[in-house]
Amino acid sequence: GVRGNAVLLGQQFVGEVLQKGSVAVDATAGNGYDTLFLANAVGAGGRVYAFDIQREALDITARRLKQFGLDSGVTLIHDGHEKMDLYIDTPVDAFIFNLGYLPGGDHDRITRAHTTVRALQIALELLKPGGRISVVVYTGHPGAADESRAVEETAANLDPRRFGVLKVTFINRSVSAPFLIFIERVKKGIENLAP
Ligand code: SAM
Repeated sequence: GVRGNAVLLGQQFVGEVLQKGSVAVDATAGNGYDTLFLANAVGAGGRVYAFDIQREALDITARRLKQFGLDSGVTLIHDGHEKMDLYIDTPVDAFIFNLGYLPGGDHDRITRAHTTVRALQIALELLKPGGRISVVVYTGHPGAADESRAVEETAANLDPRRFGVLKVTFINRSVSAPFLIFIERVKKGIENLAP
């Protein structure tokens, strides 16, 4: 719902461009909820790549997928999303980024401005025309200010002829509520029209 669930809003945004057989990436597997959502959306004929720097997160994600019988189409990768291009060489329909720390885990192993921006740049390169990226950005924890600024600046500077970009904020909540960045790559053929 719209009351406060940034994660569901992000899933909704990317879910609209996914169908059976699509390729999707969870850039921050964490507890595996987004990976599960993507695996279900792309179905048995699709493919999901899920990254996390913490073994523990990938173990939790693997267990969750198995529980729902959705593990066969998912590749779990124990590495930073800033190196996604080493693992993916196919165009991607949708990416989910859910930044910050692993809920219930180590609060020091957070996503960081430099690597997050690098990963976003790779995602933009891999994104299919018409493809979408959702980024859930948290602003309350130590280190979050730098990262949220960097992500917003990166998104704000994208060429409007190539990408539609939105920032979604909960305007009646505290300034430390999460916000979302939604990116859609313009479909082929209309890329050259004036913005
Ligand atoms: N999407 C997850 C879910 O549905 O449960 C929640 C993700 S959690 C907020 C953020 C995750 O990002 C943590 O598990 C953390 O280990 C991971 N992370 C931190 N830096 C990373 C990096 N450079 N590359 C990939 N994952 C990273």
